[in-house]
Amino acid sequence: MTLALARKIPGTPLEDAVRRYPDVPRLIILKTDVQRRGVHYTEEAVSYLDPEKHQTTGTHIFGTRDGVIALRPESLLLRDGTSIITTPTPPEENPYVVDLHDGRPWLFDAGVALEEVDYWPAPAFYAKDSSSGVPMKNIVSARPQRLNIFPYRYCTFWNNGKGCAFCDIVTQLKKGSRELKIPARLDPVEVGAVIGEALKEEGRFSTVFLTSGSIVGGSRPFDDEIDYYIAILKEVGKNFRTHKFPSQLIGTAFEKEQLKRLYAETGLTSYTSDIEVLNEELFNQHCPGKAEWIGYREWKKRLVDAVEIFGPGRVNTGLVAGIELAGPHGFRSEDEALERTLSEAEDLARQGVSTVLIVWSPRPDTALGAYKNASLDYYIRLARGLHALRVKYRLPIEHDSYRNCGNHPDTDLSRLLPLWEE
Ligand code: SF4
Repeated sequence: MTLALARKIPGTPLEDAVRRYPDVPRLIILKTDVQRRGVHYTEEAVSYLDPEKHQTTGTHIFGTRDGVIALRPESLLLRDGTSIITTPTPPEENPYVVDLHDGRPWLFDAGVALEEVDYWPAPAFYAKDSSSGVPMKNIVSARPQRLNIFPYRYCTFWNNGKGCAFCDIVTQLKKGSRELKIPARLDPVEVGAVIGEALKEEGRFSTVFLTSGSIVGGSRPFDDEIDYYIAILKEVGKNFRTHKFPSQLIGTAFEKEQLKRLYAETGLTSYTSDIEVLNEELFNQHCPGKAEWIGYREWKKRLVDAVEIFGPGRVNTGLVAGIELAGPHGFRSEDEALERTLSEAEDLARQGVSTVLIVWSPRPDTALGAYKNASLDYYIRLARGLHALRVKYRLPIEHDSYRNCGNHPDTDLSRLLPLWEE
């Protein structure tokens, strides 16, 4: 293949965007666009993958953009340590290409080599099995810097077909149990033991992360979900000398009494509950289960209530950014979507709740799978806007930052731009 190195060549879409947004680091713009367009791994890039050294795709509770489970890199790292959480995407959808250049993996666009990348390294515990004989990586998975627990790979909003319009958790559950032998529901004691094994790799991990599908059951709705999280976090906590340990949970929007239990009975230090889209009508349309069981305004109220319990800067909500523009009822323009989304995000920020974005990946087995996500400019402007709100309202985002998460272009900005002047 004839290559042109593009780092300093103007005229590529990436370099054009870099020029339009001089206040946003080039690698963050690249990351955002790779998340937006996805990646295709060439055969050479896949042959570079060494499952003993690198993480391979498969353990996530959501599926890939091409709907395939195959041996491919879990994701990518840039040369400054920035994670790109992206997913294999069909070549006809114009993804970035990962190919070898001088024997190393690089990101290419239209045949131009843009940046050298690394595959995520496999942690030591990935080679081991749990006491019940399950590969440990199917119980606890890893990002480059954190440990992920996905204890329940189903969501009861799907019981009556009211799961979110961008979600493929049920399809992935079926593929996971069939092709990967991942348990649908994890045993808390086993989770605690695997976390203990993972932590033997000293200095590798900065935080423990937990999320699952919603569980509506219990004497009050979602008590079963709370009880299950408490059981797991108690087992995880046995590996730490202090009651509290660095941790994040993404769960349903719980009532105040449920949140108090979660905080008091476990070592959990931060709480995230994803509203997905900041507009009531679009929320009702795209998240019918959340609307049925909790409702848009109540979801927001519960986020604000959580600040009293977890503290300012330790509560946030996530957007699947781009769905607000999809379909016949979406916002008519990106300008309108930005203005309305940031206005509602500011209302939350004023009350101590941060908003972060993930770049929406339209997946084939979802109701919105046939639509496209938004432009690169939109994601950059939204990331700048959400970061600016944290600066204005002095909201730290350490628990969901590049160090502890790595999936949000807006929180990557807090790494390089000061949140506020002292
Ligand atoms: S709450 Fe929505 S996005 Fe989350 S698992 Fe359930 S259906 Fe999927």
